[in-house]
Amino acid sequence: MKYIDIHGHVNLPQFDVDREEVFARAAAAEVGMIIIGTDIESSVRAVELAHAHENVWAVVGIHPTEVSALQRPDLGGQASAVSVLKELSRNPKVVAIGECGLDYVSSTPEEITQQKELFIQHILLANEIGKPLMLHVRNGKEMKGAYQEALSILKVHAQVRFNFHFFAGTPQDAADIVALNGTISFTGVLTFTKDYDVVIRTVPLTHIMSETDCPFVAPIPYRGKRNEPAYVIEVVKAIARIRGEDEGKVTRQLLENARAFFVLR
Ligand SMILES: [Zn+2]
Repeated sequence: MKYIDIHGHVNLPQFDVDREEVFARAAAAEVGMIIIGTDIESSVRAVELAHAHENVWAVVGIHPTEVSALQRPDLGGQASAVSVLKELSRNPKVVAIGECGLDYVSSTPEEITQQKELFIQHILLANEIGKPLMLHVRNGKEMKGAYQEALSILKVHAQVRFNFHFFAGTPQDAADIVALNGTISFTGVLTFTKDYDVVIRTVPLTHIMSETDCPFVAPIPYRGKRNEPAYVIEVVKAIARIRGEDEGKVTRQLLENARAFFVLR
């Protein structure tokens, strides 16, 4: 393993037709991966897939935008979902809890209140099990401040490390995350925008990780197609290019960051 995609959704139906080929292409490109759950079903699937493959790990959790779905009577609410997650999280192939956090994009104030409760439940579980947190935090068009709100919740509750996946905050948000020894990860978005160049140049390389968030946001030259873990190489190249650093050095450091953060073995 030379590269790692720390956040992808190979567990989603978009990969049903050729999932084993996607794993094979990643293995051939020396790309390891971490498959992320967004609800109970996809978390279970992530653990199964991690067990069936080498250099594949899983993260289990409930995405903040799934909070309303949890109110469905057949799912038994937050408490029962969290107890299922707790069982899953003991599995040795599970390397973090998430993706969890706050999503202000199209959430109502009531949903945001529920998201905060669910987020805290994930943090407490991560503390109990001693595994880090994979965070999904997003500002809305009008409603900003999700990063600072997430950080203030983490400051009160978190006793483990955390990664802000698909970082889309400000340079100040990034500096505040790093000040708490948190990390940020980037996707193929780097190949077609300069919006994060300042953050990538100013954050220490030790606090950056590489991801695809596949099947979404494929990097150039695959833009518009379904994304997959093997394409994380384009993200690593973009980080090296933006920082003006040696690609080999950046590649080794990004893998080392993930090995240390997730305690991969
Ligand atoms: Zn995701």
